[in-house]
Amino acid sequence: MSEQHPIIAIVGSGPIGSAYARTILQAHRTARVVMFEAGPQITERPGASVRNIVDPDEKARAREMAQGPQAGAFRESLGIPAGAVVEGMFTARQGTHLLDFGGAGSAHAPTFPAAAAATNVGGQGSHWTCAIPRPSFSERVDFIGDEEWEDLISTAESLLHHQAAAFADSPVGGAIRTLLEGEFAAGLPDGYGVSTLPVAGDPQPDGSMIWAGADMVLGPLLDEGSEESGRFELRDLSFVRRIEMDADRATGVTVDDLRTKKTYLFAADVVVVAADAFRSPQLLWASGVRPAALGRYLTEHHVVISTVSLNGDRMAELVTEEELQGELVRRAKNPTDPVAAVNRIPFSEPDHPFSLQVMYAENPPFPLDPAHPHAGNPWGYVNMGYGVRKHPRVEDGVTFSEAELDYRGMPNMTIEYALTGVENAEITAATELLRRAGAALGTFIAEPRLLPNGSSLHYMGTMRFGVDDDGTTVADPYSRVWGVDNLVVGGNALIPTANTMNPTLMSTAIAVRGARAVVDRLRGDGGR
Ligand code: FAD
Repeated sequence: MSEQHPIIAIVGSGPIGSAYARTILQAHRTARVVMFEAGPQITERPGASVRNIVDPDEKARAREMAQGPQAGAFRESLGIPAGAVVEGMFTARQGTHLLDFGGAGSAHAPTFPAAAAATNVGGQGSHWTCAIPRPSFSERVDFIGDEEWEDLISTAESLLHHQAAAFADSPVGGAIRTLLEGEFAAGLPDGYGVSTLPVAGDPQPDGSMIWAGADMVLGPLLDEGSEESGRFELRDLSFVRRIEMDADRATGVTVDDLRTKKTYLFAADVVVVAADAFRSPQLLWASGVRPAALGRYLTEHHVVISTVSLNGDRMAELVTEEELQGELVRRAKNPTDPVAAVNRIPFSEPDHPFSLQVMYAENPPFPLDPAHPHAGNPWGYVNMGYGVRKHPRVEDGVTFSEAELDYRGMPNMTIEYALTGVENAEITAATELLRRAGAALGTFIAEPRLLPNGSSLHYMGTMRFGVDDDGTTVADPYSRVWGVDNLVVGGNALIPTANTMNPTLMSTAIAVRGARAVVDRLRGDGGR
């Protein structure tokens, strides 16, 4: 270890670990970053989105390899003991694995059954939908000033290859916006009406997208011959079992190399843990770092979802036959990517504390009986849902067992979670709004329904950051675990607010702030 050539160990290779790596290496010209990832590399360029893989077999293989204990035939090659018998009643979304999969070493989450994770280079960021709305109103934290926040959030947008107007030229997408505006515009505040949903990726000249993953966040760190790449190393199939501590300092990490089955100690000046909202607190807990709020205040946004067959007469007033055919030709270029145009109505207060997301696709997201009156609708379908917030409570969260181990030999998790009257009232209100949206667009082929807890895949609050070390937060405003200046945490778990939006952009902004503070400290600048 050296002050001039500091070593930073990052646990987890998702978008947040990657934002730390990039920000630190670009701001500190002699630092070295080693990133440890429990899962395998599943795409040619590390951390790329599997949605960009066109070949369906290759895509299915990449997804299965990311599924940890539910990785089927790949499981043992990923260092997961064969003894972890998987008896899941239902599987998670492709590319992810349920925490409570039901077999040996499974977590216990009867009240949060859809909780899932991804275990691969790029993390969930290789499977995500890439929606990156900004948090607004009370979704934001109040202890970062407007000017700094604007800088952080726009830096995060640039790391994620933000596109404000993806598919804005889709005529079907435009017609959907017009119909939703007709129904809702009058009741929404300026700037928070119906609009395209910002997404992460690079639009292509043919109208398709290359979706962003951790690869885009890492950027030059992956480019052979770049200055930063010489100071960056990514070790896949490397499971961090423990953060080593010496009193109030982290001294490194203990790593299981899942290929060689050897365990080694890696010394580091700074340890960053960005291993998702359940496995990060698990690792801290297993390492004896146990602030009172660790694992508590779990939130997500609940999802009321439905599918609508678009009304042909209304669409035909807004879109010509030629435009529709053009849209279908564009879609045919990557039929395995289910997203064609994405619209939304964002969160606003006080009257619309919800986020509506509306995804257009030419086919329904589930097989529709050919005899169904809406089968084969040439105008296509929308899959749409309202995100409804969860108000943080200390009672909701994850605990870790002293006695029972999970399939990795880590303290096993139990999640306890409940909706209260406040959430149920907002879910009822969102369901009514969804019915209005559906009626404006066409006919429901799947009625509005509340998905099981955990379905959002956006888990927040389990390592909240904040200004006071008062037992309700795990980290300080620069994401350092209270009392351990060189142990930094990252991810959606830091978000202390109740919100309805997709959280990765906000978590990336928080990570940029944390990474800048790491660099300032390493340079000995200022007190932060
Ligand atoms: P992750 O991406 O989860 O990465 C954490 C990594 O840490 C994993 O690869 C894991 O294997 C690794 N790890 C865990 N424990 C250890 C250990 N002990 N040692 C080494 N490595 C470890 N978010 C949005 O904002 N918008 C969306 O549209 C959206 N859609 C989504 C759709 C799907 C299908 C999924 C699955 C997720 C979606 N998300 C979305 C969520 C988004 O992907 C996450 O918010 C984001 O990936 C979080 O980044 P992260 O780096 O904190 O964690």
